[in-house]
Amino acid sequence: METTVYCQVVFDSNHWNSYVVRRLPHIFRGSRSLMSRPIKVFFVSSEVDPYAKTGGLADVAGALPKALSALGNEVRVALPLYRSINESKFKIRDLKPLESISVPVGSVSEIATFKSTQLDSTTSPVQVYFVRNDRFFRRDGLYTDSQTKQDFADNDERFIFFSRAVFEMLKALNWQADVIHCNDWQSGLAVAYLKLIYRDNPFFQRTKAVFTIHNLAYQGRFPRDTFEKTGLPWSTFTPDGIEFYGDVNFLKAGIVYADAVTTVSRKYAEEIASSSEYGYGLEGLLHARRNSVHGILNGIDYSVWSPETDPLIPQNYTIKSIAKKKLNKSALRKKFGLAEFPTTPLLGIISRLANQKGFDLLEDIAWKLMSHDVQLVVLGTGEPKYHAMLERLRQQFPDKVGVFLGFNNELAHLIEAGSDMFLMPSRYEPCGLNQMYSLKYGTVPIVRATGGLDDTIEDFDPATKKGTGFKFTQYDAQEFLNAIMRALETYGKPALWKTVMTNGMKKDFSWETSAKQYVDLYLTLLKQ
Ligand code: ADP
Repeated sequence: METTVYCQVVFDSNHWNSYVVRRLPHIFRGSRSLMSRPIKVFFVSSEVDPYAKTGGLADVAGALPKALSALGNEVRVALPLYRSINESKFKIRDLKPLESISVPVGSVSEIATFKSTQLDSTTSPVQVYFVRNDRFFRRDGLYTDSQTKQDFADNDERFIFFSRAVFEMLKALNWQADVIHCNDWQSGLAVAYLKLIYRDNPFFQRTKAVFTIHNLAYQGRFPRDTFEKTGLPWSTFTPDGIEFYGDVNFLKAGIVYADAVTTVSRKYAEEIASSSEYGYGLEGLLHARRNSVHGILNGIDYSVWSPETDPLIPQNYTIKSIAKKKLNKSALRKKFGLAEFPTTPLLGIISRLANQKGFDLLEDIAWKLMSHDVQLVVLGTGEPKYHAMLERLRQQFPDKVGVFLGFNNELAHLIEAGSDMFLMPSRYEPCGLNQMYSLKYGTVPIVRATGGLDDTIEDFDPATKKGTGFKFTQYDAQEFLNAIMRALETYGKPALWKTVMTNGMKKDFSWETSAKQYVDLYLTLLKQ
């Protein structure tokens, strides 16, 4: 009997089914009814590219649902409707059958309305829902006030509201998810709501929760008073539950209650469970849950980040036409008013200007670095002390240093295409995307061997000509400088440099590989 069913699906033309049978025949044999239909995944994220983005989470939330959908699953996505979202550009429409829904936040009922569009996808469509409440989300900035740079004082209420509204929306839509996949602290509470409140509703009884940590350092930690507003039972306000040293911790809620926890690289999964340096107080919990914590590397959306097709760069190029890359370098220099020294390498940085990203190391070496034949362009926004440092550097070396303090996607593409090297000396890096974009653009990454940087970049060895970048291990300014010096030395040997560039350009970090690992995980959970 089992053999008969197995064969039927093997010859099914449906991509997803044949994938399942190829990779997971044991699971398939065990649960026929589940395997005969796509998995329904509800993806909850506070930012989704191209609608709203402050960092890598948005890239993942914009790309992974498409990749899951391309494997034949039914995926829907939810995010808040922020003021910055361009509703006409993205054809965002009212969600007609849904009236407004009342969502409890503490003792107050807040009103949620919903809008919808589809993620642009060449394969199968992904429905995207926007949760609207103008009091909470119609402001300048996603989590921090764009003017004052301070976190919004009511971020707890905003994301309690969001995390709860999505369940009310699913009920109203009568769309029963197999898996709710939540991301980072902003939707950590959604996992707790599923397990502690909505689990009693037959509609959600079989729904599994996956929680992905994109950055453990941002935990959504609020004072004890916040707990009252969550509406969760006080019995869960304990060190085993949502309490964290007397406070409420939204990220911890996601880790404690999820059926499976993932993070965005294998190395980071190890790091966060093994030391306080990376675990930020949650290392004990993560160690205790280690059998349920999985490292799945983020992929890259090559339909957005590929020098062959990128519409945002002046000159497209491939490995075969790699020489054309220099036209982008000229355009980038022009943009920043930098001198056109013919043989000088151009180093690029695109980053949040945060402690995590290693700007104290850069500050330590920047002036020494400028005594060498190099130029540097930096695109970033964040901590004022780093704004000031970069501004000082630029003023001192106007021919050599270009700085843009802000968020600018188009410029990010130009920097990837126009730089020779890319610097990421991160203190920690859950996955990191820019080093993978850099590989694709033939822009050689110089990185600290931590988290996803270590998993994705291989140190170049001139003897074997293997490797894709330059790595250093200790979080140390001199080590960083040494890695740059090794890169500069290699840059001085054009044939060898071309080898490093092309080694990187040949790497494939497409989403399909990662999405299949998520599907494996979902199937394992659904079998339980
Ligand atoms: P993180 O999520 O920690 O900020 P990642 O490397 O995972 O770092 O992802 C950062 C993403 O945000 C990349 O797509 C990067 O290009 C983009 N990014 C970061 N800062 C800027 C900026 N100032 N302007 C444009 N894009 C930026």
